[in-house]
Formats: sequence, structure tokens, C-alpha cells
Amino acid sequence: MKYHIAVIPGDGIGPEIVREAKKVLDRIGEVYGHEFEYEELYMGGCSIDKFGDPLTDETLERAKAADAVLLGAVGGRVGVDSWYELPPEKRPEAGLLKIRKGLGLFCNLRPAILFKELEGACPLKSDRSQGGFDYVIVRELTGGLYFGYRYTKEINGEMTAVDTLIYAESEIRRIAKKAFEIAQKRNKKVCSVDKANVLDSSRLWRKVVAEVAKDYQDVELSDMLVDACAMELVSDPKQFDVVVTENMFGDILSDEASMTTGSLGMLPSASLAEGSFGLYEPSHGSAPDIAGQDKANPIATILSVAMMLRYSFDLQAEADAVEDAVKEVLADGYRTGDIYSEGTNKVGCIEMGDIIVSKIK
Ligand code: NAD
Repeated sequence: MKYHIAVIPGDGIGPEIVREAKKVLDRIGEVYGHEFEYEELYMGGCSIDKFGDPLTDETLERAKAADAVLLGAVGGRVGVDSWYELPPEKRPEAGLLKIRKGLGLFCNLRPAILFKELEGACPLKSDRSQGGFDYVIVRELTGGLYFGYRYTKEINGEMTAVDTLIYAESEIRRIAKKAFEIAQKRNKKVCSVDKANVLDSSRLWRKVVAEVAKDYQDVELSDMLVDACAMELVSDPKQFDVVVTENMFGDILSDEASMTTGSLGMLPSASLAEGSFGLYEPSHGSAPDIAGQDKANPIATILSVAMMLRYSFDLQAEADAVEDAVKEVLADGYRTGDIYSEGTNKVGCIEMGDIIVSKIK
């Protein structure tokens, strides 16, 4: 098969980590007989330098026309890079908001993976992390409190702020379907997180998720209150497979989950639209402090490519091959600086990419 991928390297370490991820895709193409065709696009600071705009409408249209988008990271240093002298809507990060909205990405996937080999980096007690864990948080991205009607005004002589949390049944249904479809490709368990003991929107959420579950009899559904979930993520993370939740709860829980893995350079992410289209990127930023020094860990981006193969192209064996190659390289003791510990073998970004490529046979 032939796949057309829009590639946005971006700023800082973006070009370095994306280059390694493309090497991995090319190797997958060779071994499994696929053709990956790349179209390189500008976004972020580099797009401001070239076009005076963090994301042009033309770039957005080109990204829309691709089968999937691979993004490195955008942004620089406030107070150092001149991009931050511009008004907020012209700064590098404005490109991120525009592309997410423009591509209709309503479903954010943030895996929390603790590899057995990196257990030492996990801040949880060893009995909770032993053997590692692997679950994914599915967050609704375009509804709820962050997009509801809001205002601040004086009421009864004092300033009063109002935010509204709105969810329509159709918004809950489409994210629930994604969560069940993802669970079918994993360990077939969905935990739906809400605050149904207090919020109307959560009661509707719980009812609609239960209805959707009837179409996925092979997947086990459980419900959990968000406060309980915040505790369970640190007390027993191994119980989870797919956690699905609304926008704000997902925002908070996914950051909590990523901290429990202890290594930012290892965490991929995906944002999905209706159908199979998605944007894939590492969870970390552009790390300007180490840019251009061959120090960046490319694994989060390489694992993002594995997610692209799995969720946009439905290439399960190919996705497994990338993830297995990463595990093998870690088991062999290779580490970039951010995950290095004594007794392991320190390598740079390029060498890490090369070794991962060599494991895909
Ligand atoms: P960051 O994630 O870029 O870096 C935080 C720390 O982690 C730094 O010390 C960095 O060196 C290290 N780090 C991050 N990724 C690494 C990797 N792959 N390998 C090794 N070390 C790594 O966060 P920040 O410093 O807060 O932000 C830097 C810039 O990135 C800012 O301009 C910010 O706006 C932008 N940003 C972009 C995105 C995105 O493009 N999606 C996300 C977050 C931040």
C-alpha cells in the first residue's frame, strides 16, 4: 500500500526526532512492502520565519489532504526567540491550536507506558510499578468546559466568573466509539471516568457510554469517578487498559499519568478525527535547550509512528514491530541522556534511531 504522510518537523529538536521516525517508517516500508510518501510542511517558529505566520491556510489544506500527519514539536524560548515578541495569536504555539481545530481532531490519545527496563525512572513504589504498565487515556478534545459559554461580570456588587460545561449526546457517542474501537485493538477493557455523583453532564456521559458499550460485547466496561481515578492511577496503574473521559478530566489525568512513567522523551500521542485520519506527535515539547546537539530521545516520536500505523493505517503487525524494536533496544541497554543510568550504554539521537531500525527485520 502507498500512504501519503504530511510531515511537520517544526522547531528545536523537532527536525532531529522526526528524521529518526522517518527512518523507522522507511524500514517498515522495506520489510512489509509499503510505500510511505512524505510531504514536508512548515509550522511554528520556522513558519513565522518563512511566511510570517505560524500556520498558513495553504499548509493546513495540504495537511488535510494527507492520510495522516507526523509532527515533531513547535516553539522556542520566551525572552530569547523573537517569535515571542509577536502577539499571542502569531506565536509558534498558535499553529498547534489552529491545526487541531482545522483538522477536526476531537479525540486525544495519550498512552502511559512504563517499560520494564525503565522501572527505575518511575516515581511510584516498586510494588506498584513492577513489571511495568501500559494503558492509554482517551480524552475528548473539542467539547466540555474549555469550549462552553463563559463570562466574567459584576453580579450583586462583586466580580463573578462563569464557565459552562456542555456535552451533547453525539459528542459523547463519537468519543466512546473511538475508545471501544481502541480497546478492541488492545486488552479489551474500557474504564469510563466521570463525576456522575455530582454533574448532569457526567450522568449523560455515563448513560451514553453504556449504550455504546452494547455494540462492543467483546469489550468490558467499568465506570469510575474522577477523584477515585486520580488515586487509582498512582496506587494501581496496572489495572487500566483504556481510560475514556471528558476534556478537563482528561487534561489533568493524562498529565498525572505521564509523570508516573518518569520519562517524557518516551511518551507518544495521537489526536484523531472522524474516520482514520490522525495527527501523531510526541507528548514533549521542542526542547530548545538540547536542540542541534544530537541529545534528543527520538523514542516518543518513533512510538507515535507506531500509533499512526495502528490507528490510521490499521497495520497492526507493523505497529507491533516498531514497539518490539524499541523494547529490544531498551533491553539491550541503549539509552539517550534523558533516560541514562549507570551501567547502561549512552547513545545520541541518530544512533538510537539507527539501532531501532536495525531491530526491524
Ligand atoms: P519540553 O518538553 O520541550 O522540555 C522539558 C524538558 O524535557 C527539557 O529539559 C528538555 O530538554 C527535556 N526533553 C523534552 N523532550 C525530550 C527528548 N525527546 N529527549 C530528551 N530530553 C527531552 O518543554 P518546555 O521546555 O516547557 O517547552 C519548550 C518549548 O516547547 C516551548 O516553546 C513550548 O511552548 C513548546 N511545546 C511544544 C509542544 C508541542 O509542539 N506539542 C508541547 C509542549 C511544549
